[in-house]
Formats: sequence, structure tokens, C-alpha cells
Amino acid sequence: MAKIAKFGGSSLADANQFKKVYEIIKSDPNRMFVVPSAPGKRFKDDTKVTDLLYQAYYAKEENEFEMVFQQIKQRYQDIIADLHLDFSLEKEFETIETNFRAQIGIDYAASRGEYLNGLLLAHYLNYPFIDAADVIYIDEYGNYDAKLTDPVLTQALKDCGYAVIPGFYGTLNDGSKQIKTFSRGGSDVTGSIVAKNAHVSLYENWTDVSGFMIADPRIIKDPESIETITYRELRELSYMGASVLHENSIFPIRDEGIPIHILNTNRPQDKGTLIVESTCHKPNHIITGIAGKKGFATIMIEKEMMNGEIGFSRKVLQVLEENQVSLEHMPSGIDTMTLIVHTDDFLEKEQDILAGIHRAVHPDSIELDSNLALIAVVGRGMKDGRGTAARIFEALARANINVKMIDQGSSELNVIVGVKNVYFEKAIKAIYEMFIEREA
Ligand code: ASP
Repeated sequence: MAKIAKFGGSSLADANQFKKVYEIIKSDPNRMFVVPSAPGKRFKDDTKVTDLLYQAYYAKEENEFEMVFQQIKQRYQDIIADLHLDFSLEKEFETIETNFRAQIGIDYAASRGEYLNGLLLAHYLNYPFIDAADVIYIDEYGNYDAKLTDPVLTQALKDCGYAVIPGFYGTLNDGSKQIKTFSRGGSDVTGSIVAKNAHVSLYENWTDVSGFMIADPRIIKDPESIETITYRELRELSYMGASVLHENSIFPIRDEGIPIHILNTNRPQDKGTLIVESTCHKPNHIITGIAGKKGFATIMIEKEMMNGEIGFSRKVLQVLEENQVSLEHMPSGIDTMTLIVHTDDFLEKEQDILAGIHRAVHPDSIELDSNLALIAVVGRGMKDGRGTAARIFEALARANINVKMIDQGSSELNVIVGVKNVYFEKAIKAIYEMFIEREA
């Protein structure tokens, strides 16, 4: 059954990486559709081609423009030369330079990294090239327009049989024919859209890590990796997943039941992580993953007899809506309700929000705290087990960490705890030790 293989920027950063990609694709004839990103970093302090493109487009001085544009050209020329290809992108560069000088659009500029890499990879693999601008439509907010895209893309993929389709961009869906990109990291989304329309059995997402780890390796040394995770678990762990896989890449294929396999271009023999709709595979541990983030603020609103006041919550939430601040959680008591929001979003609008709440519900008091970290402990295994919450709290109590907030979704898929920012790492270590190290 056909597969699509999407390769991230680090997988295509130089000729050596291109060779690995070639080996991977040619080793399985089912890898019929390939979605490349733009060349990424070759080493730690290197600059991604996409970032160079932004820099060139916004260059204020002619000198700077020429220097950065030359660096971009060089990245591709080096790959072509090192692979000994009889291929040139010179004509493309001429057109792109003219369009940059005419300032035809920042999305056009950013998209050229994938466009050029797509042309190059198609030549190298001897695969047909499909320009994403001809088959993918995106709205002004950067969301994929399924109605316009699906019929055109399905047909194009059928006609080609196998193809390279560059990631990250498409055409604006308003008839203007302008190039539009997804948000950063959006080649993952292209991969998902192609997977859906090619009706493949698997979406392989090749990157530079061997899948998801149970916890952040910057906090836990050599954490175990996750073999299988459901889409829902991954959503609950989105604080963690975002850096490996673009959040929006789940939606196009979820309804089709196509799994995503996260794999490592540099270690193709590793198992990676399989993301599925549902599975009978028992997880290795009760919990599948632990993820969290610092930087939340709490707004605790107190008012006597609040629970009898119909419409109280709606009025409070409307204040957040009017200020365009999104709500992360909302634990409540009889006479209190607490809004948990991102500190950065909140600080900008703090006084407007407070005044708005006072006007809307006349609270007895409002208390603020901007020091909260949230930790999500997620696992499909929790549903059938008992004592998971007790073990989380035991782990935190033993580590001497005060729990400031608790939230368990009724799906029994996750428990979220709030602790002070300073205890964030310590809390994750304590939970990891309780569930993973002790069970090992
Ligand atoms: N090249 C784009 C970026 O750096 C898109 C991608 O890599 O997915 O964000």
C-alpha cells in the first residue's frame, strides 16, 4: 500500500542528508509521495533557508540583500555539486530575485525554500514534481481549504502515480493566485493533506529524532520513547508534541484513520513513534507521556453565592473573549472560580480584563498569580487502572512540591497539575520516577 514520506529541514540540510533520504525512499517502492521541507540547519548555529529567505526579503540595504541571497543560492548549489547532478536552478533564481525586488509578498518569499528543494529532490529521485501552488489552497488565516484542494490534489496525485510535492505553501483561496504559507513548520500539514488525498496507508514523518519521548530529554536524562500514541493522547500532550510535529497536521488525516509514523532520517532502523486513531496495543506503562509548560497566570475570582448566579461564568468568559485572550483551564469552587491563561497574553491586557470582570460580575475580590507551570500526565492506560492520581500526588508530596491546581478531564485520559514555575522540572522528574523508573 502506498505511503507518503515527509522529510523535515534537517533531513535535507546538505548533500549527505539528501543521500540518506534517497536510500530511504528507494528502499521501499511504496514510498510514492514525498513532501520536502526547505534545507534546515547543518550544524547548531547554522541558519535555515526559510529564515534566510525572510531575512533577504526584509533586507534594508542592497548589500545585505545580495549577501543573503547569495547564501541561499550557495546552499542549493553546494547540494547539486556534492551530488554531482546535471541540474541547474539558475533560471529559478533569476525569477525569484526579480520577484523579491518587486516585493511581491512575504509568503511567496518564504515558500521558495520548499519550492526549490522540491525541484531538486524530484530531479535527484527522478520523480515527477507537483507545484503545491497548483494543488493546495489556503485561507487568509493559514488554514487549508479542503473544498478547493481535495478534488484538484486527488486528481493530480492520481495522474502522476508518484511525485514530489513541496511542503509549507499553496495558493490563497480568494482567486488572487497569490502564494500563501501555513504557519512555521507547516510542511507537516502539507504531508497530512497529501496523505489524505493520496489515500495512503501510512504517513511517514522523517525528522531528526526517533519519535516522541515520554518526557522532555532536557529534563529527564535518556527518557524512554513512546512506541504508540493515540491522536487524543498527543493532543493532550500538545505542549510537548509541537516541536516534533505541527499541531494542525493531525486534523486532515484523523477522519481517514491514517497513522503517522515519526521516524529518524539519521537512524532509520529505530522504531520511532506510531500515532494512531485507536489501538489495542497496551502501553508499556500506565502513563504514555508527561509534558508541561511554564508561564501561566491565574485569576482567582471570589464572590459569595456565585454558584447561584445564573450566567456568572458566561459573563466572565466574555471578558476574556472581548480581550482576545484564550482560556487554558477553569477550576472552580462554590464561591470561587479561577481562570488560567498564558501570562504573556494576559499581561498585555491585564488592566482591561480586570476592569471588565469588575464591571461584568462585581466580585468580592480578585487575586492574581503569574507563577504557574502546568504539567499534563497523559495515558490511555489510566482509564482501567486505579490509583493513578494518588501516585501522582504521592510523587509530588515526596518531592515536597505543593500542588496549586488539579484538573482531571472526564475522559480519564489526563490529569493536569499546576505547580509553581520553580518546581516545574522537579515535579516532572518526580512523576517520571514514580511511573516509569519504578515500573521498569
Ligand atoms: N521551512 C518552513 C519552516 O522553517 C516549513 C517547514 O519546515 O515545515 O518553518
